[in-house]
Amino acid sequence: MPILLKVKWFLISFLLRYLKFGSKPMIVIDSHLHLDEGVDGTASGGARELDRQLADAGVARAVVLHLDIQPWGMEEFSEAISQTSRIKAFVNLHPDQPDVNNTLRHAVQKLGYIGLKLHPRLQEFTVDDPATVRLVRAAGEIGVPVLIDAFPDGTHLMQGFDPVKYAVLAKQCPGTRIIWAHMGGHYVLDFMMLAKRLPNVFFDISYSLLYYQKSSIPTDMVYAMRSMKFDRIFYGSDYPDRPVAPSLHQSLEFLAGQGLTEAQLAKIVGGNACDFFGWTDLK
Ligand SMILES: [Zn+2]
Repeated sequence: MPILLKVKWFLISFLLRYLKFGSKPMIVIDSHLHLDEGVDGTASGGARELDRQLADAGVARAVVLHLDIQPWGMEEFSEAISQTSRIKAFVNLHPDQPDVNNTLRHAVQKLGYIGLKLHPRLQEFTVDDPATVRLVRAAGEIGVPVLIDAFPDGTHLMQGFDPVKYAVLAKQCPGTRIIWAHMGGHYVLDFMMLAKRLPNVFFDISYSLLYYQKSSIPTDMVYAMRSMKFDRIFYGSDYPDRPVAPSLHQSLEFLAGQGLTEAQLAKIVGGNACDFFGWTDLK
C-alpha cells in the first residue's frame, strides 16, 4: 500500500476510534439524505438499507428528505420511515400546489414529518415568489423548519440562481427557521455574509464539501464555519449520491486536517443539529 494511503487509513481509523471511544463520544447526525430507489424499489426497503448503513457508520440520527420526483407518495414514505426511530423526515411539497398549507399541516401533525423540503431547481419555482413566501411562513406557524436546496449546478445557474433571492425569502419569513442546503456550493461566502444578517438561517454542508475537493471551495467552507463560530452549520452526506460511512470519514478527515478542535468538530458533526431539532434524548 502506498505510504500516503497508509497515512490516510491511519487517520480515518484514529477518527473512528475517537468517535466511538473518546472521553465524550461525539454525537453524529446526518442531516441531509434521501432514500435509495435502487435497493428494491420500495420506500420500506430503502429505509431498512439506510438504517443499516447509518448503524454501521455510528450515526445516531438522520434526516431523510422526501422528494416528489421519487415514486413514493408522502404517506408511503412516512410509513417506511416510521419503522426506525433513527430516521426522521422532511416532506417535499410545491409552493403552487392546491391547498399546500393544509397539506403541510397534515404531513406534520398526522404523518410525523418534522420539516418541509423545497427544491427550486427540480420543482422549477422561484425562491422569492409570493407563493414560496406564503408556504415558508406557514411552516414557521406550524412550527417546523424548511430546508431549501442551494446548490448552484449549471441548470440552477441558468434558471437564475441568486443568493440574494434566498436572503429575500428568509428576511420575509423571520418566524421560520430555514436551512440552506449544501452551504450554497461555490457561492458559500456570499451565503455566509447574508446569513450573518439573518438569524433564522442555518446551513448543511452536504455534497459540497466533497464535491469540490481539491478546489478552494472546501477551505472557503471552513473559513465560513470559523467566521460563524461553528454555529448554525450541520453535517450531511446527501446519500445515496454519496455513501454514508465513506462520506462521514472523508469529511471528518478533511475537517480535522483543517485544524478544527474536538469541540468544533463535535458541533458540526452533530451537536448543532441536535440542539436545532431539540433531540435531548441523544445527549
Ligand atoms: Zn439532497
